[in-house]
Amino acid sequence: MSSPQASIDHRVRLAAFEWLEKQTQIHGDVLPRELLAQGFFFEGKRVPFVGPQGIFKPKILPEIPLSIITTIEGPYDDSFDVNNLIVYRYRGTDPDHRDNVGLREAMERKIPLVYFHAVVRGKYLARWPVFVVGDDRKALAFKIDADSQVLMARREYAVSEEVVPPRAYATIMIRQRLHQQSFRQRVLQAYREQCACCRLKRVELLDAAHIIGDSEPEGIPAVRNGIALCKLHHAAFDSNLFGIRPDYHMEVRKDVLREKDGPMLIHGLQELNNRKIILPTPSKLSPDRKLLEQRFEEFRAAG
Ligand SMILES: [Zn+2]
Repeated sequence: MSSPQASIDHRVRLAAFEWLEKQTQIHGDVLPRELLAQGFFFEGKRVPFVGPQGIFKPKILPEIPLSIITTIEGPYDDSFDVNNLIVYRYRGTDPDHRDNVGLREAMERKIPLVYFHAVVRGKYLARWPVFVVGDDRKALAFKIDADSQVLMARREYAVSEEVVPPRAYATIMIRQRLHQQSFRQRVLQAYREQCACCRLKRVELLDAAHIIGDSEPEGIPAVRNGIALCKLHHAAFDSNLFGIRPDYHMEVRKDVLREKDGPMLIHGLQELNNRKIILPTPSKLSPDRKLLEQRFEEFRAAG
């Protein structure tokens, strides 16, 4: 890291990690493509994170790519090998294409990269620093490690300090987040980013609720077992203050209907009674009636 080129490489990566840290504090760990395409400014020059290809090197960096993107929307497990390494396919079939050469360089010089994995079209889970640790010319793929040397890089690149994670922890986290975020993003998209009960459209206040909880065997992470709800209605639904009938109408629990209180109770809960929920587009993504029926039984038993 003594030549001027090496030092510019180091400083750009440092700035990139800092910027990502800030953005994830604002947006969470799923970032929209437009934001990544804009990127940040480094000494007056714009540094984007994504381009038309999966392996991306902004102009400012002399040789080594800054980021790699997996755009396939699941099945996620195909992107990981048995050792919890990310399997990242070559660009094309020529091992000596300059993008592939760039990643090989990153491996040899242990330069950290940013990894983006699409959870839905145009939205990416971001992880950094990751390292290229293997090159399989036969399989036309690199192996990417999100775990090893991460701590070293955190110090060197001043990425926020964390407790020493056990081996494979970071990769397991990535997989978990991919599953959670994929469910959340697909459900919110289906419901056009609004609460199915009250139409609230503040994304920060929206959840992808499970109809049947994911601890139960039927609680699969499919959109048809999900419903977009605001925080209030998510909590109210989970506590059986109201239920959703298989005909998509809401039923407020009797004791809640009888209660006397201010406008929040009236508008927030009591007025939901017998109203139809907002259904997703396309309608084939509507809540599965069998799952609703099963869940409604639970609501009945509670009321
Ligand atoms: Zn709501």
